[in-house]
Amino acid sequence: MDRARILIADEDFVLSRTLTWLLRDQGYDVAVAPGGRGVMDHLKVTSPDLLMIDVGDQPADGYQLLERMRGEEQWRDMPVLVMSPQAPDEMSMQVLKFGATDFLSKPFHVRELLARVRMQLRVRREILHARHALRSTEVELAQVRTEAEKRRQLVDILQEVHGDFSPEELYHILTRRVAHALDISHCSLILARPGDELGIVAAAYETPGLRHLEIELKRYPEIRAALESSLPVLVEDVATSPLYAEAREEWTIASNDVKVRSVIALPFRIDGMEAGVVFLRTLDGEPSLKVSDVDFADDVVKAAVSAIQRAQAMESTRADNERLEVLALTDSLTQTLNRRALMDRLDSELDRARRYSLSLSLLMVDLDHFKAVNDSFGHLAGDEALRGVARVLQREARSVDVVARYGGEEFVVILPETGEDGAVKVAERIRARVAEQATEGLLPMPALTVSVGVATVLSTQIQAPEELIALADEALYRAKAQGRNRVCT
Ligand code: GH3
Ligand code: MG
Ligand code: MG
Repeated sequence: MDRARILIADEDFVLSRTLTWLLRDQGYDVAVAPGGRGVMDHLKVTSPDLLMIDVGDQPADGYQLLERMRGEEQWRDMPVLVMSPQAPDEMSMQVLKFGATDFLSKPFHVRELLARVRMQLRVRREILHARHALRSTEVELAQVRTEAEKRRQLVDILQEVHGDFSPEELYHILTRRVAHALDISHCSLILARPGDELGIVAAAYETPGLRHLEIELKRYPEIRAALESSLPVLVEDVATSPLYAEAREEWTIASNDVKVRSVIALPFRIDGMEAGVVFLRTLDGEPSLKVSDVDFADDVVKAAVSAIQRAQAMESTRADNERLEVLALTDSLTQTLNRRALMDRLDSELDRARRYSLSLSLLMVDLDHFKAVNDSFGHLAGDEALRGVARVLQREARSVDVVARYGGEEFVVILPETGEDGAVKVAERIRARVAEQATEGLLPMPALTVSVGVATVLSTQIQAPEELIALADEALYRAKAQGRNRVCT
């Protein structure tokens, strides 16, 4: 308080003047509400640190005034020194109950009056001081609470992204969680590198079903700025920001009602390279995004990026493994299964047949006189013929059938749940198709045929895989012996 302000409300004009003079002499600012009426109006004008009021012979009016003052936040803590011509009897002391802070009988000694005034003002100062301290504590408390809430959300998010998610899933989790935490309607994740013309929206909270939408980055100056500077871009007011000077012209030309109010473009790096931005927006009518939102989103994104990095590494390892696995099981010339894969599949198909009492057939397909074909047409044409036969086998097979290159110019087809009759039909179709393709010129040589040996096992007499193959081989031998280009059981 610089100079304490005192408002005197007393009907006694002479006394008011004397008091004014006395108090001003002590260095106080003094105002007078003559006649004690309109005190509330005077309070508003002077906003005093102390009110000195004479409640006169009618203390009931004084009570009312005190009650009114204490009911208003602004005057609740203001000290009120009540003066009265009466001796402090029970009735006059009532004023203390109604909120007066001190009582003084008239006439009074000047020194006593001044001492009381000083005391009231000191109490007033202390109250103000305490109030101030309380308010800043409340502000701090609110900050700590907000901070704690954000930490909690961050921990929650970290726990969520800790799971075994694909990068795609993580993008969705990230946008959803940031949107929820900041209570905003628009949050997306855009994959792009500095200088790119197109970005890919990998996830958007506002359009959960969206997949890989391409956007033209020239329409998003904030995204480009964030990617190029590697720093978050916060635009609190899109309508006035110079960043949109050019874009705004286009919006006007297109008479496009721009509803975005504020924007944050938060760049993130994966494996040390700018990989994209997390893009937050609020619309007209929603609160603007603030620096504290940037900080929070940045924390979340940094934490999520390591999870995304891990998920990407996992995904590429998984993809590599899958590729290797496919490679390890595939015959490189014909792209059918190789012998190792064939034996695995045959094992499990025989198992299944045994378990469910199913029959199973196996075809052994061998190219006729292939040595001679190679000799006449060359090895490369021979390879092409092998590929052609493999294509026929794959086309004739059902999806449950297994086609494999057994070795050299021999193929095996496993036909699950197929008896001998069915198997012979398939074999016959294959034989006819190969011959047909050759005559139609779809194979490198005009006359290419295959012989097929068929072996079928019934559920009651399931053999080992090798036995079944040996049976088919014997049948094939018979087909060869009977003149080739035929099917034998
Ligand atoms: P048959 O009608 O009795 O089966 O006579 P064949 O000449 O087909 O039988 P043989 O087992 O004597 O010869 C198989 C030939 O298949 C020998 C080999 O040159 C050829 N062959 C095996 N693998 C390949 C390959 O990957 N590419 C090519 N072009 N030829 C192959
Ligand atoms: Mg052979
Ligand atoms: Mg052969």
